[in-house]
Amino acid sequence: MKTVHLGDRVGWLWDAGLDLLLGASCHGCGVPGRSPCPQCIVAMLPHPEVVSQSLTVGVPVYAACQYDAPTSGFVIAYKDREAWQLTATLGELLLSALGRPPPDCVIVPVPSSPNAVRQRGFDHMGSLARWVAKRSGVASVGLLRYVRAVEHVGLSATQRKLLTRATMRASPGRRRVVLVDDVTTTGASLAEARRALLAAGHEVCYAATIAHVLAPQTSRS
Ligand SMILES: [Zn+2]
Repeated sequence: MKTVHLGDRVGWLWDAGLDLLLGASCHGCGVPGRSPCPQCIVAMLPHPEVVSQSLTVGVPVYAACQYDAPTSGFVIAYKDREAWQLTATLGELLLSALGRPPPDCVIVPVPSSPNAVRQRGFDHMGSLARWVAKRSGVASVGLLRYVRAVEHVGLSATQRKLLTRATMRASPGRRRVVLVDDVTTTGASLAEARRALLAAGHEVCYAATIAHVLAPQTSRS
């Protein structure tokens, strides 16, 4: 659990003063100063749970919190705005969802598409996976890669599932794997990652993500 100590408050005020001059602000709520601000740190206290998308993935999927404000602002800033200072903030959330992996497991990040990595200039999940692996006492291994591009934006859950199928490939082996990703939306990417790992001979124990999107209620209409 994170606690804002007096020293942190002084540091935050100092940073806030500097950042006011530089025009920086919290990625979660927009107030000028350090990101995350103390209020967002409190708002993002993790409460890991198994999410309903586990059914789609085929193994338990743990998420630290729901994908809404302020967490969504930090995830987007980290992925798309090179907010490197958020590695520990998001890493702590992922770590709480990850728990303590069995010592014979390796952590495998779900890869970003080659297009996304090219645009961002770095693989954000690779960085987060290395951060949590270091603190979990297990290795982070990049076993997965995309073999076919897939664009998720604007697709329904069913369309995502169909179009994501057979887009990833894993290096062969017999590892026991804990998958990590940033956000569980429909579970399609995690399911495809698991399929590729199983096809290559690995075993997937469970998955952990920073946040999850609440699954929509099933409609009869
Ligand atoms: Zn904030």
